[in-house]
Amino acid sequence: MSDYDFDLITIGGGSGGVRASRFAASTYGVKTAVVENMRIGGTCVMRGCVPKKLLVYGAHFAEDFEDAAGYGWDVGTPSFDWQKLIANKNVELDRLEGVYHRLLRDAGVAELTGTGRVVDGHTVAVDGPDGTKTYTAKHILIATGGWPSLPDIPGIEHAITSNEALDLAALPDSIAIVGGGYIAVEFAGIFNGLGADTHIIIRGENILRGFDEAVRDTLHDEMTKKGVTIHQETSVQSIEKTANGYSLRCNGDEILEVGCVMYATGRAPNTKGIGLAEAGVELDAKGAVVVNDRFQTSVDSIYALGDVIDRVQLTPVALAEGMAVAHNLFGGKAAAVDYANIPTAVFSTPPVGTVGLTEEEARRDHDVEIYLSHFRPMKYTLSGRDERTMMKMIVDKKTDRVLGCHMVGLDAAEMTQALGIAMKCGATKAHFDATVGIHPTAAEEWVTMRTPLRPQAKAAE
Ligand code: FAD
Ligand code: NDP
Repeated sequence: MSDYDFDLITIGGGSGGVRASRFAASTYGVKTAVVENMRIGGTCVMRGCVPKKLLVYGAHFAEDFEDAAGYGWDVGTPSFDWQKLIANKNVELDRLEGVYHRLLRDAGVAELTGTGRVVDGHTVAVDGPDGTKTYTAKHILIATGGWPSLPDIPGIEHAITSNEALDLAALPDSIAIVGGGYIAVEFAGIFNGLGADTHIIIRGENILRGFDEAVRDTLHDEMTKKGVTIHQETSVQSIEKTANGYSLRCNGDEILEVGCVMYATGRAPNTKGIGLAEAGVELDAKGAVVVNDRFQTSVDSIYALGDVIDRVQLTPVALAEGMAVAHNLFGGKAAAVDYANIPTAVFSTPPVGTVGLTEEEARRDHDVEIYLSHFRPMKYTLSGRDERTMMKMIVDKKTDRVLGCHMVGLDAAEMTQALGIAMKCGATKAHFDATVGIHPTAAEEWVTMRTPLRPQAKAAE
């Protein structure tokens, strides 16, 4: 008989927390509980990946209807109903929430509704609908995720974030999105596709810092062609409410008037006010929980994973970390997560897929060969759409290993998942060359790129 109420209490019922608790209970038969103060499923299911992608699909129909004409279709004048899209999206989220509750129930995981707080290394207080209750556990897992982080400028209270953008009462006529990361470019694609006059405001020269330059330039060009205005090297100093919307003062004296202002300027870990520092859990300068390779914090019995540790803010990474925590704590395994070659996609319009090193990163340690392809996808020949696909492969000259694959264009996310497997297997360019293509696809381009574009020595030489 355990001295504790639970073997594991997880604070946060998002991707990572649910996976760790459920997997520990169903695989190792231990007694687990999840504390959640919003909706089970967390950011990805309720406020992130899922609703976002449904809206990306919704917005893309605008182009699909246009493209249909070249294939002989007359679809009349399509009309769009934002409220219907949002209502249907919410029905799907309710369904998924039900699925998550069922998965937890079937695995025997207790759900504790309320806000969790660490009291000490083995005690969690839950401020719930019936007051505060206290539970003990052999291990505590912090999986509280993150929340949008906005700069403190005059009028910032007028700005929405991705949370509200997914549930706006009406589609704005125009929108300014501040930031040039994943969320900014994805939501720009959604609003622009649905007909809003869409502006992206970035403080630097280009969107998607940290991505390969070819991706950044291609997406910048393609989004601009589709009508998104990208304001480079622009800082918003203040936001004022006007009769018709909002007035943004930028770079001193430039004014931009829009119907809606959205900030997508990164996310901060949810670590405030939940007793972590008081319990002796070390946080870094950004407030993220510091953990070792086994996701253990500075307090032996407290673990953390997912966005709250701020390593890689992606759902599949939180899931992998959740599995590793369960194996480590209850399976007697020393399971770590391999962060190398994590494939990722940006669901912009057109989408981005990327895995491995950028050219800039690769050149630091390798002599590289670059293979580059730009083409108009077959689908757009008859439709006449002026959208081009870019594919880029970076190969180590010495070992022939593929170091990075980067793409902007139709189906990039779907292709990149498979490229990730090849790279995990250590694929060489010769392996790609020896692979028979599937014709006619865009993906066959990955196995038919024969001529290196610009073989160069590494930067340091
Ligand atoms: P979360 O999913 O954030 O879960 C944390 C949970 O803890 C939340 O449910 C929260 O309510 C709860 N919580 C917090 N504090 C407490 C407390 N004190 N007590 C009780 N409960 C608490 N990733 C992808 O891989 N692909 C995508 O396409 C993608 N799209 C995204 C789009 C958007 C708009 C956003 C914001 C994120 C997106 N992400 C995407 C990132 C992904 O959602 C996160 O990396 C992932 O959800 C992290 O999981 P997590 O378990 O760490 O945290
Ligand atoms: P990102 O870190 O991706 O981008 C933040 C952007 O905001 C950058 O362009 C940054 O500019 C800019 N920025 C930061 N601070 C300021 C400021 N004070 N003023 C002006 N601009 C600022 O964060 P997101 O919010 O877009 O997304 C958070 C994370 O969620 C992502 O990193 C990703 O891990 C995850 N996510 C994943 C998705 C997917 O897998 N498809 C989709 C959505 C989110 P600069 O480059 O100059 O620093």
